[in-house]
Amino acid sequence: MDTDVVISGAGPTGLLLGTELALAGVRVRILERQRTRHGQSRALTLHPRSIEILELRGIADRFLALGHTVPSWHFAGLSRELDFSGLDTRHGYTLFLEQARTEQLLEERARELGVEISYGHEVVSQTQNDDGVDVAGVGPDGDFRLRAAYLVGCDGGRSKVRESAGIGFPGSDSTMSAMLGDFAVTDKEEIAAAGQVPVLIAPLAGGLTRFVLTDPERMRIPATEPVTLKEFREALVELAGTSFGIAEPHWLSRFGNATRLAETYRAGRVFLAGDAAHIHFPAAGQGLNTGLQDAMNLGWKLAGEINGWAPPGLLDTYHAERFPVGELVTDNTQAQTLLLELTLVPDYQRPVIALRGLLDSLLDIPEVNARLAGLVSALATSYPAPADDPLVGTRMPDLSLGSPGTRVSELVHSGKFGYVDFTGDCTAQVTDGWKNRITVATGGDRLWAEDVSEVLVRPDGHIAWVRRENDPPDAAVREAGITAWAGTPERVAVWR
Ligand SMILES: Cc1cc2nc3c(=O)[nH]c(=O)nc-3n(C[C@H](O)[C@H](O)[C@H](O)COP(=O)(O)OP(=O)(O)OC[C@H]3O[C@@H](n4cnc5c(N)ncnc54)[C@H](O)[C@@H]3O)c2cc1C
Repeated sequence: MDTDVVISGAGPTGLLLGTELALAGVRVRILERQRTRHGQSRALTLHPRSIEILELRGIADRFLALGHTVPSWHFAGLSRELDFSGLDTRHGYTLFLEQARTEQLLEERARELGVEISYGHEVVSQTQNDDGVDVAGVGPDGDFRLRAAYLVGCDGGRSKVRESAGIGFPGSDSTMSAMLGDFAVTDKEEIAAAGQVPVLIAPLAGGLTRFVLTDPERMRIPATEPVTLKEFREALVELAGTSFGIAEPHWLSRFGNATRLAETYRAGRVFLAGDAAHIHFPAAGQGLNTGLQDAMNLGWKLAGEINGWAPPGLLDTYHAERFPVGELVTDNTQAQTLLLELTLVPDYQRPVIALRGLLDSLLDIPEVNARLAGLVSALATSYPAPADDPLVGTRMPDLSLGSPGTRVSELVHSGKFGYVDFTGDCTAQVTDGWKNRITVATGGDRLWAEDVSEVLVRPDGHIAWVRRENDPPDAAVREAGITAWAGTPERVAVWR
């Protein structure tokens, strides 16, 4: 084997996956088609669960230092916003951070951990057999071939890996498009005085200003059609009565609402993550966030398989857990986009105003607001659990633990599982055989779930196993619960 894992694509998903694998000591090589980073940013947001997963690795501060936070976020452009600040998290906000900066920080982290990133290397095809995958591509010195145990396609919506693995990408083509422009020159006074205009205007780093708009006159233009400065100015005048003095465009683009979901996230030794597995309109800014969370789910499982401790079936839980999340995201973005589209059709304006008013009033109900906020923030993501306990599969809150200054997130900084013994009676029983895979802590904030006496937290922060106070402290049950996720202990543990 040339390496354990080849990742195609050094976007946010591929970069985070690379760091996760390297953290677990896996040899990983990322192949990126572009020769250098273009520096343009599609995404501008990191939602609460993404900040939480960065916190699980102890690197959230790097991202927080470069962006700014807002406590609420929109859904379908409704007037009443989703309240992230009321959610059960230490990070109840959206972080405004340009995608280029997110990628830069992830790449820095990947390089710190020794990930090899090869720019100018395009993956063209793959073939796999029982032992590994042969990856063929074109690089700066001509054609290349690499053999790896696994290949992960993080190569975006037009993924060659997906195509070459024969994985279908069913869904719908684009029916409407929006326009995006980043400009070096704008009239700041006009922007300040703009009031309510149907245009998103956001300051970017380096003095640029982003404008995003959907123009009823132009929304049926195919997303592949280039945008000109003249067209952008005209659209702004039509929608806002002024072109805001835009000049010196750094990037002009059109994007559409094509929505597709890979029919499977795994085909043998080939996996898909991020936009390679799901595309949709960027409604409420969820694509990059979902890709990061795919990577976080897959990384430790693939590492467990390569490092030889993964229990049977662990790798299959990647599709089982993340495909339903892809369905939720593609569904909710389609619902949001339909509302946006109807708003722009003249015949529907009166009924759509009524519908929006109704939805706004529903978002005034705290439970409804929290439900949608949980969906968009991804804090409500819970994985199907084989166990009966309702906590299994949900995300573990970042509680403070017994030792001063210790939190649940710190237990998994190294990419290991975390085990918390709230009672202090059971800790000795899991230290030995799993010590290379599980970090153990005692005590903690029991207000979270008063009757939980032990919990096993997966490396991605979801709950793998719990014991309640009324359950007998049965060593065999505990061993089975832990083994189901963390594999068999390296040597026989001494149970009391
Ligand atoms: C206008 C717009 C605004 C958006 N705003 C948001 C937002 O606010 N929040 C949010 O969460 N999401 C947003 N998104 C979506 C977000 O940009 C994507 O979901 C995100 O970039 C996906 O990351 P990725 O790493 O999976 O794929 P990509 O970012 O597409 O990265 C794929 C990488 O693979 C490389 N590649 C492609 N083919 C090959 C190959 N054959 N061999 C090697 N390398 C290859 C590409 O060069 C690229 O670097 C927005 C999208 C758009 C269009």
